[in-house]
Amino acid sequence: MENGSKLTNKKWGFRGNTSLKVEDDTTTIRGAFTLLMSNINPSDKRTVIPMSHSEPSAFPCFKTTKIATDAIADAVRSNEYNGYPPREGILPARRAVAEYLSKDLPNKLSPDDVFLRMGCKQAFETILQVLGGSKSNILLPKPGFPYYDVLAKLYHLEPRFYDLLPEKNWEIDLDSVVAVADENTVAMVIVNPGNPCGNVFTYQHLKKVAETAWKLGILVISDEVYGHVVFGENPFVPMGVFGSITPVITVGSMSKRWMVPGWRIGWLVTHDPNGILKQHRIINSIKECRFISSDPPSFVQGAIPDILANTKEDFFSKTLNTIRECADYCHEGIKDIPGVTCPTKPEGAMCVMVKLDMLVFKDIKDDMDFCVKLAREESVLVLPGKIEIQLNSISVGLQNWLRITFAIDPSSLQDGIKRLKAFCERHSKIA
Ligand SMILES: *Cc1c(COP(=O)(O)O)cnc(C)c1O
Repeated sequence: MENGSKLTNKKWGFRGNTSLKVEDDTTTIRGAFTLLMSNINPSDKRTVIPMSHSEPSAFPCFKTTKIATDAIADAVRSNEYNGYPPREGILPARRAVAEYLSKDLPNKLSPDDVFLRMGCKQAFETILQVLGGSKSNILLPKPGFPYYDVLAKLYHLEPRFYDLLPEKNWEIDLDSVVAVADENTVAMVIVNPGNPCGNVFTYQHLKKVAETAWKLGILVISDEVYGHVVFGENPFVPMGVFGSITPVITVGSMSKRWMVPGWRIGWLVTHDPNGILKQHRIINSIKECRFISSDPPSFVQGAIPDILANTKEDFFSKTLNTIRECADYCHEGIKDIPGVTCPTKPEGAMCVMVKLDMLVFKDIKDDMDFCVKLAREESVLVLPGKIEIQLNSISVGLQNWLRITFAIDPSSLQDGIKRLKAFCERHSKIA
């Protein structure tokens, strides 16, 4: 024991990434969530309403399709997928993803454009590994998906932020993109359909995004994890449509559309009709990266062709109808709540940003204070708009806004909105 501790003190120095504190109180979504959960009052006998993170699979109304669970069970039972997956991924699975995505694209994808990854998040990490470098920076949306700032840092990319404009249905402020970009910028990231804003970009807007990226000489990385999860006026247009204007990489997964985030299956796809990514050896580097990290489990890859080919339209329309109903209820319900406004009606994904008018409240300091008190008094969880990332003190998001997830069971949502209203009325000056 004695010896051990001496050794530790004298000879063994830890030089790790000690600034990493991503699970701290107000850091990532998960961190904020943990903090809010610790504020729940145990003597409140009402159920906790989780309008804080997108995990609809917890609710029976968002159960996945039997086609998918059967395909997984069949793949396991076949005993054909007990070994390591081939390094390049199972070919029929890559082909199935290429065909699935090509339905909406002018240039058809080949299986070689598809890299299977453990969810959208790992797909994103893979491209960051390729792009990371000592001086490089990457442009991220504000408000955005808080994990991406942390991941960019981890892979040695300086995150820089461009604005989304609430008054323009959360379109990208392209001037702000140009303003923060410089010669070390490697890519801009977009999230469409949008988390956390619930917006869906138009064809025209995405075309302008591609043109801006081309002028800046940067790649567009499009997070389409909510691809096809749209229920408003704008249809979903994949960024790959504009691959001939500027090189595009899309990342996506089955997590959200099929309501199976635990299956950890996603993809990174290159849209490179002009061969620019190939010429710059980006595609080669993606292949190299894949050799280092783990791949999605063989049986999940094995089940993909069946799932993508055979999922019935009525599964998608049923879940979309429920999400639409929730989005409408949330948007309408908030209109009657003092101090909270929802600038845009959500049209896609599973959450929305709503604005707090702090002048209305008599005893609430800011968005975090709002969320903590709401958890304590009403057992309702919503996330603050500003989530602080402790890594090198980056602080992103929008102060005094809230991120509200509406994709929960409709009766829980109704209950949640009622409690939110009671809370705001009780804390407002005029009540
Ligand atoms: C949920 C989510 C992800 C993570 O997707 P996985 O497939 O579960 O890794 C990535 N991006 C956004 C915007 C998300 O909401």
